[in-house]
Amino acid sequence: MSILDDDLYQRCISLAMRSRSGSERYGSLVIRDGEILGEGYNRAIAHPSFGRLERILRMGYANHAEVEAMDAALRAGHPLEGADVYVGGYFVETGALYVKSRAHFSCTRCVPFFERYGIRQVVVPTPRGWEGMTLGEAAETARGFLGDTHGRRAATVDAESHRYSLEDILRNFK
Ligand SMILES: [Zn+2]
Repeated sequence: MSILDDDLYQRCISLAMRSRSGSERYGSLVIRDGEILGEGYNRAIAHPSFGRLERILRMGYANHAEVEAMDAALRAGHPLEGADVYVGGYFVETGALYVKSRAHFSCTRCVPFFERYGIRQVVVPTPRGWEGMTLGEAAETARGFLGDTHGRRAATVDAESHRYSLEDILRNFK
């Protein structure tokens, strides 16, 4: 089965479509024992200067979807220990879906939040379906991604994502 047919992946993409980010839109789910405890998408951080809001949105400055999903679960009264964080999204400009060739995480900012709240695994979409990684693996791959050159990062993301587009998944939406 294609990742595009997966219910949880479709839910992540529906959430991502609610984001107003002009660059990358992500949706995230916090799941434990098959139960969705919280969901979120990346949002602009409220800024006291209204004049800058447009720039914040354009630049994609945001509370990341993973943090929003964890926050929603906590606010609903769910402890997060042992839960898994799923994340999927797309690039606004090209419509390319964020699909990884292997379990790989690219955000060092979210990892400390996973550690603080006892998240078990970070789970990302690959052509074979969802693939999980431990927090150690997430931290290591995110550091590697951050330390890479801009060109190599872009090449990694492009090679992994351009085979899948938002249009493809919208045709499969349940
Ligand atoms: Zn992040």
